[in-house]
Amino acid sequence: MNEEIKINKRPRRLRGTSSIRSLTQENHLNVRNFVYPLFIRTGKNQKIEVESMPDIYQFSIDQVMYEIEDLLKLNVDKFILFGIPDKKDEYGSNALSDNGIIQKSLVEIKKRFPEAFLITDLCMCEYTDHGHCGIIKNEELDNDATLEYLQKQAISHAKFGVDMIAPSGMIDGAVKYIRYALDSNMFKNLPIMSYSAKFASNFYGPFRYAAESAPQYGDRKSYQMSFSNRNEALKEVKIDIEEGADIIMVKPALSFLDIIRDVKNTVNVPIAAYNVSGEYSMVKAASKQNWIDENKIINEILTSIKRAGADIIISYFAKKYAKEINQK
Ligand SMILES: [Zn+2]
Repeated sequence: MNEEIKINKRPRRLRGTSSIRSLTQENHLNVRNFVYPLFIRTGKNQKIEVESMPDIYQFSIDQVMYEIEDLLKLNVDKFILFGIPDKKDEYGSNALSDNGIIQKSLVEIKKRFPEAFLITDLCMCEYTDHGHCGIIKNEELDNDATLEYLQKQAISHAKFGVDMIAPSGMIDGAVKYIRYALDSNMFKNLPIMSYSAKFASNFYGPFRYAAESAPQYGDRKSYQMSFSNRNEALKEVKIDIEEGADIIMVKPALSFLDIIRDVKNTVNVPIAAYNVSGEYSMVKAASKQNWIDENKIINEILTSIKRAGADIIISYFAKKYAKEINQK
């Protein structure tokens, strides 16, 4: 009976039980590959929730210690620091000061938690009153004038004990100039993670509120990439690797999974993906309305970023994932 029916292709065989599903699962998240962003501000006893990003805070240095302590217990031990200075000016002077917010944070955190791996975001926009990522001349970002500034900022962070530098401004030549400055100042072994393919994205909105770094006029489209472009991302990544980037980054992540995969298929350095603030806030907002299952959505989003090819995931969800989702 039915001898003519021969169905040999049965992918469902591998989906029948949870055991066989876990046996054949292709991609796994590991909290050791996560980087958690921290916003640090001046002052004491400050823990201010970012209105546009529920459960994400700006901390003063004394308060960020409690946050780091919690995260280390969850095996989240890599952090990217964003400084919020009390004074901003045209040239972003606070970024280069020995008493700058990042410099002080590096010293204090390293003293208390030597095991914490600290990455610093290297850019001018958090420190300039105009909120742009470089030196401005005639309302235009002066690329080459900015390079020297980034060199000084990198050396300063290195002196104060940073573990990895992450230039984020999409300034042409930044990796080469920073690498040269670090090498000439005895920091040959300090790695650079470059924001190589950073798109001028609308998903950054909530972050700018968190880091108080919104441009006061104009936009960043003359230095960040158009979200319409794919080939250009590979060009940017290749240039950064030639200039000495140890790790390259694609930012944002979720609307750019194709770019992450393109890069994965093309280069052989570790790839970081930044699961940005807008991606975070959309999930939080929908979950507040009970329209989605927050933890399941977070797991799916983070796994999709990994599956696309990211080796490292920078995410505001890292803490929640490690606390509530991991191993479940
Ligand atoms: Zn910037």
